[in-house]
Amino acid sequence: MSKKFKEPEKPENPDAVRGLFVWLWRGYLKRYTGLMLVAMLFMSIEGAMSGLLAYMMKPMFDDVFVGGNADALSWVAFAVLAIFVTRAVTGVIQKVLITRVSQRSMGDLREDMVDHIMDMDHSFHQVNGPGLMMHRVEGDVGAIAKVWTLLITGGGRDVVLLVSLFWVAITIDWRWTLVALIGLPVMVVPSVLLQRYVRRTARRLRDVTAYMSTHLNEVFHGITPVKLNRLERYQSKRYRVLTRGRVRAETEATAGKASLPGLIDIMSGIGFVGVLLYGGGEIMAGEKTVGDFMAFFTAIGLAFEPLRRLGAISGAWQQAAASIERIKGLMDMQPGLKSPAKPVPPPQGVPQIDLRGVSLSYGDAPALRDVTLVAEPGQTTALVGASGAGKSTIFNLLTRLVDPDTGSVQIGGIETSDMDLGALRNLFSVVSQEALLFDETLRENLVFGKDVPDEKLMPALEAAHVTNFLPRLEQGLETPVGPRGSSLSGGQRQRVAIARALLRDTPILLLDEATSALDTQSEAVVQAALDRLSQGRTTLVIAHRLTTIRNADKIVVMDQGRVVDQGSHDDLITRDGPYKDLYKLQFDK
Ligand code: ADP
Repeated sequence: MSKKFKEPEKPENPDAVRGLFVWLWRGYLKRYTGLMLVAMLFMSIEGAMSGLLAYMMKPMFDDVFVGGNADALSWVAFAVLAIFVTRAVTGVIQKVLITRVSQRSMGDLREDMVDHIMDMDHSFHQVNGPGLMMHRVEGDVGAIAKVWTLLITGGGRDVVLLVSLFWVAITIDWRWTLVALIGLPVMVVPSVLLQRYVRRTARRLRDVTAYMSTHLNEVFHGITPVKLNRLERYQSKRYRVLTRGRVRAETEATAGKASLPGLIDIMSGIGFVGVLLYGGGEIMAGEKTVGDFMAFFTAIGLAFEPLRRLGAISGAWQQAAASIERIKGLMDMQPGLKSPAKPVPPPQGVPQIDLRGVSLSYGDAPALRDVTLVAEPGQTTALVGASGAGKSTIFNLLTRLVDPDTGSVQIGGIETSDMDLGALRNLFSVVSQEALLFDETLRENLVFGKDVPDEKLMPALEAAHVTNFLPRLEQGLETPVGPRGSSLSGGQRQRVAIARALLRDTPILLLDEATSALDTQSEAVVQAALDRLSQGRTTLVIAHRLTTIRNADKIVVMDQGRVVDQGSHDDLITRDGPYKDLYKLQFDK
């Protein structure tokens, strides 16, 4: 059931590559056509200026230097200066415009990707780690942006530049120009082979870099366990293997990419020597002027650079195609769990929760087998059982992070799958073992962008016992909590999560108890806050703590995906059943 984001294995054919760019164009670039055209206009002017510059060599040498015409000196000097200034100004303008277009369009793509990735199923995220997804959003989009800029610059400036330079060259002598291009056909076959190679290495390079981000993400997120288990050396060894792989991949990719312009260099060299041999005689014989000679070589000399850049584009294009391929593959995947077309409104009031005959497997491994249970409205139902018994899976079913294979899950008499996914999740507050805090201020972590007045905020903070530690924070609610809330203690983070749940004020509460993380004193405070929170709500709690179990209205005992017993603590403890065994194992030491 889990979907691993698969990379296509073989290099795609040119049609498919074109298809990828069409997809990108239609989705993200077309809307900026106007801005792009303006940028291209400035690029064309910039390009044409270089052609003009080459052309100016002719009057400069023939009229001024050789002809000795003093009047010509001033207009030639002025014209050359004007050309340089125009080229500089248009160059700056086009760069700014093109950066804007590429950043805006890629920003759009990034936003869509983030939305899409967040919409993907739980199962998708379990297989595709955060590092990999971060790399898709940052690395792959960045690679496209680079190429896109290159492409437009190439299409705009370099093409005009080449046309104007060749125009200068041809007007001087078309045969010289032909000779200069003599090396061109020689490089067709090697460049096709090289492009394939570049595409292959680019793909490998992206894979390696994605692995590296995944790895770093794991290490830095798990830095405490890494330290406590003395895994630093082990992790750095693993990282070293990856960096070595990256060196290889990066070197090979660069060798491929650099060879493309290298080919053009060789071709240009052949052309240059050809013209020197062929045209040198004509100049010495006086059939051509020095101005012709200077203008021609300036034009051909200036043409090397744009030719080289255009050569680099085809390599970069291949690389970008690999990135677009991945992005499109990701964007084409659809979440399996969706809201129905005509959703039923969610239940009003405090609902009852009903699971009937629910079975669920992760792949071949059954996690729940024919589970039937009821959580009464307004009461607390505790789920107990060994690790792996299926307790968290029940939470995931209720919030529709997963769907059952068979059976029915109802809230207030309505099937969860008949409700809008967002409306369904609005029914729940979840307080789990690790409170999820973002690297923002405490207030932001409580209200999440909503405008909550202090009169509403304060009672929640009071009830969640956040007010106990709030005065000790220097900036109060405006204190930054650090990455993942690291500047607060475990108990404080839990209380923030409870305050958040109080503010959400949902009819159902899911608690995944955190005992291990807390010391006895904070445990008592957190417990008091939780008791207050669960009042008047249907509460389901994955219970580890004896007090919670005792206070629950009902206890559901689970084992290997089955409900094996249920009742109150006093009921269950008198029976010789699985609960008594579990109780003995955990508490009767
Ligand atoms: P509990 O919360 O009681 O510890 P869980 O509901 O987390 O148990 O897990 C029930 C069973 O399902 C376990 O055997 C666990 O290994 C398996 N399981 C849970 N989540 C997944 C998953 N995403 N993929 C595969 N197996 C899973």
